[in-house]
Amino acid sequence: MTYLSKSPWILHYDATSCNGCDIEVLASLTPMYDVERFGIINTGNPKHADIFVITGSVNEQNREVVRNLYEQIPNPKVVVAVGICACSGGVFRECYNVAGGIDKVIPVDVYVPGCAARPESIIDGIVIALGILEGKRNAPKSGTPEQQPMESAQGGGAQ
Ligand code: SF4
Repeated sequence: MTYLSKSPWILHYDATSCNGCDIEVLASLTPMYDVERFGIINTGNPKHADIFVITGSVNEQNREVVRNLYEQIPNPKVVVAVGICACSGGVFRECYNVAGGIDKVIPVDVYVPGCAARPESIIDGIVIALGILEGKRNAPKSGTPEQQPMESAQGGGAQ
């Protein structure tokens, strides 16, 4: 069981989703599924967020937006890729304008596949994220360098 020292707030961003996964994210927040019972609030301000919930894939238009939002979220933070588009690019991964999943730009901690991802899967992913977040909060300050985005870690970067 995960014990939290602080209620986690999420930032939800639609990268290039068809909105199918976003409807399911919102369904997770409504009374039927009600992740707010865990103290989770959907905030519009990245500076208030702990968990970055992101749908859709990466392209040249949103690459910098995704990176910018990620960098505004204070540490420690956790990224949850919701839907197969966010996980890998999904059915659009071969498109000329799709670079791939979210982990092409920022580190992803939890992958929630599905098209669309079901609210039950999204809630499972967020619960896993809560455990990862608490682990990061409790980690010693030294010896836990922030994970670098995939391209940065490989010496690349968006051009
Ligand atoms: S995974 Fe499916 S439902 Fe979700 S954004 Fe992609 S195409 Fe839409």
